[in-house]
Amino acid sequence: MAIPATETDCTSPAFMWKLWLYTNYDCNLRCSYCVAKSGPNVPRRALGLANVQRLVDEAVTLGFSDVFFTGGEPFILKDICDMLAYSSARIKTTVLTNAMLLHNKRLDKLCEIANDNLIVQVTLDGGCPEDHDAYRGKGSWAKTVESIKLLQERGFRVRLSTTETPANSAHLEKVCEFHRSLGIPDEDHFVRPLAKRGYSKEGLELDMANLLPEVTVNLDGMFWHPFSTDADMQVSKRIFPLAEAVERIQGQLEAMAEGGIPLMTFT
Ligand code: SF4
Repeated sequence: MAIPATETDCTSPAFMWKLWLYTNYDCNLRCSYCVAKSGPNVPRRALGLANVQRLVDEAVTLGFSDVFFTGGEPFILKDICDMLAYSSARIKTTVLTNAMLLHNKRLDKLCEIANDNLIVQVTLDGGCPEDHDAYRGKGSWAKTVESIKLLQERGFRVRLSTTETPANSAHLEKVCEFHRSLGIPDEDHFVRPLAKRGYSKEGLELDMANLLPEVTVNLDGMFWHPFSTDADMQVSKRIFPLAEAVERIQGQLEAMAEGGIPLMTFT
């Protein structure tokens, strides 16, 4: 099915912008394909609650469709539920997580702020431990599945994201059978390609030329797409205002369309 031009044309007023927030870069896991180069000993580089609140406000004013929280592992942060509560009260909000920390007090806190605007998206790379653990670490599949079930028991809508890797690509249908067995419908399962970024030495080469922009923010500025916050994907060294990043991205797209050399002036 052809996608209507307005959905892919970022210069159209009908284009629905998405905002991605890198809340932090530290993580309880150290996946060998991590595009963010996250891990237990990685500096946090926290975006912070005040910045998140202001960015959400600006996204709402600009008519963005969604806000996504990612990292690192967002649930390492003490104030992540304050961020999610603020965001989901105003706009459709999804938090990406490995889910392995979501039990006991952290899960209770998340349940306190549950609402229809808040979706939890968990990475699950296989229907069996071998497929998932190959890139995410031994024992991670079992803990992730346990957390998915806990989230479901507490009434959460859980979305699943699978990264297609050499370890699971021959039997991706197994993860589909598995998520259906958990009661998670096909519409709540996404498969994305492995990207050659961050720690990953294999996968697709993705950059500004082949990614539809989704405004992405970390403490260092604004970026083209959440696949990477490397310097070549940066569109601004300033976080605010969000409208400026949108204008820069639109300008960049126009320059690319005209075949000119894309030039960015950082201020
Ligand atoms: S891929 Fe996700 S869970 Fe794995 S190290 Fe990176 S941020 Fe953490």
